[in-house]
Amino acid sequence: QGHGGGGGGMNHRRVGMRVPLGLKGKVSRILVTGGAGFVGSHLVDRLIERGDHVIVIDNHFTGRKENVLHHVGNPRFELIRHDVVEPIMLEVDQIYHLACPASPTNVMGTLNMLGLAKRVGARFLLTSTSEVYGVRSCYDEGKRTAETLTMDYHRGHGMQVRIARIFNTYGPRMCIDDGRVVSNFVAQALRKEPLTVYGDGKQTRSFQYVSDLVEGLIRLMEGDHVGPFNLGNPGEFTMLELAKVVQETIDPNAKIEFKPNTEDDPHKRKPDISKAKELLGWEPTVSLHDGLPRMVDDFRQRIFGDHEKETG
Ligand code: NAD
Ligand code: UDP
Ligand code: UDP
Repeated sequence: QGHGGGGGGMNHRRVGMRVPLGLKGKVSRILVTGGAGFVGSHLVDRLIERGDHVIVIDNHFTGRKENVLHHVGNPRFELIRHDVVEPIMLEVDQIYHLACPASPTNVMGTLNMLGLAKRVGARFLLTSTSEVYGVRSCYDEGKRTAETLTMDYHRGHGMQVRIARIFNTYGPRMCIDDGRVVSNFVAQALRKEPLTVYGDGKQTRSFQYVSDLVEGLIRLMEGDHVGPFNLGNPGEFTMLELAKVVQETIDPNAKIEFKPNTEDDPHKRKPDISKAKELLGWEPTVSLHDGLPRMVDDFRQRIFGDHEKETG
C-alpha cells in the first residue's frame, strides 16, 4: 500500500507552491521542518538569500513565528503550521529535518519525513545530536532511532540521506528560558541575577555559533557524503570560563552562584570535526568572543523590548 496518490481515509494535507516540477539546478524547493525554531530560522534566512523556494513546517511548539516573520509575503516562502507526527504531502527537492518533538514521537516525525522524501525522491538531512555518543535520555535515544531509520531508508530504498550530529550551538533567536547554559548565563546577566554554575564549573563544553552550523548543514546537504558528521566548534571552555566571557561581555560585576549538578552531566564535550574538515571543507570561523555579543543584542531586545532605550 502506498501513499503516493490518494490519502484514502487518511488525513493527508496537500500543500505546496506551484513551482514547475523538474525545475532543478539553481532554484530548489526546500522543506525545512522546525524552520521557525532557533537553528531552522537561520537556515531559512540563508536559503531564501540564496534564491531557493522554502517551505517551513512547524507546530510552534518551541519555535516562534516571529523568527520567520520577515519572510512572510515573500512568494518564495511558505509557512505551514503542522505537526510532523501527522503525514503530509508536498513536492520538494530537499528536506532539512530539524523538527524535534519530544520523544518517542520524534521517531514518527522522522518516519513521515523519510516517507515523504522517498515518495518524491528528495534528499533528506537529519539533524541528530552529540548526545548520541552518551545516551542520557529519551530524547537522545529518539535521535539514535532516527539515525537508524534514516540509514535504513538509505540502504533499503537507495535514498539520498545526510546525517549531522550537532554539538552545543548558540546565537540570536535561541530560546530564552529552555535552561541551556549560554541562554541561562546571558539572560541572568542581563536581568542582574547571579549566573548559576552547576557543580564546580570545571566541566567543559564547546560552543558553536549558529551561522557556522548553518554553513555546515548546507555543505553537508549539497555534498556527496552521507555522514554522520560532527558539526561543532572544537574550542573548549569550562563553565567558569564561559561565565567569565559573559561577565566581560555584559556585566563585569555579575555574581556567580554555585548550584548542585546532576549526576549524569558529562564532564567534557568537544567535537572531533576532522571528518567534516576533510570531506566537507568546513570548520567554524566565529569564536565565542565574537559570537556572544551578537546573541546578547538579540536577548537584550527580547527581554527588555521597547522598555529599555539605548542607554548602553
Ligand atoms: P528549536 O526548539 O528552536 O527548534 C525546533 C523547532 O521544531 C521548533 O520551531 C518547534 O516548534 C518545531 N517542532 C517541534 N516539534 C514539532 C512537530 N512535532 N512538528 C512540527 N514542528 C515541530 O531547536 P533548535 O536548537 O533549533 O534545534 C534544531 C534541531 O537541531 C533539533 O532537531 C535539535 O535536536 C538539533 N540539535 C540542536 C542543538 C543545539 O545546540 N541547538 C544541539 C544538538 C541537536
Ligand atoms: N508519508 C508522508 N508523506 C508522504 C509520503 C509518506 O507523510 O508524502 C508518511 C506515511 O504516511 C508513512 C511514513 O511517511 O507514515 C512512511 O512512509 P513509507 O511510504 O516509507 O512507509 P509505508 O507507509 O509504506 O510503510
Ligand atoms: N550548566 C550550568 N548552569 C546552567 C545551565 C547549565 O552550569 O544554568 C552546565 C551544565 O551542568 C552542563 C553545561 O552547563 O555541564 C552545559 O549544559 P547545557 O544544558 O547547556 O548543555 P548539555 O549539557 O546538553 O551539553
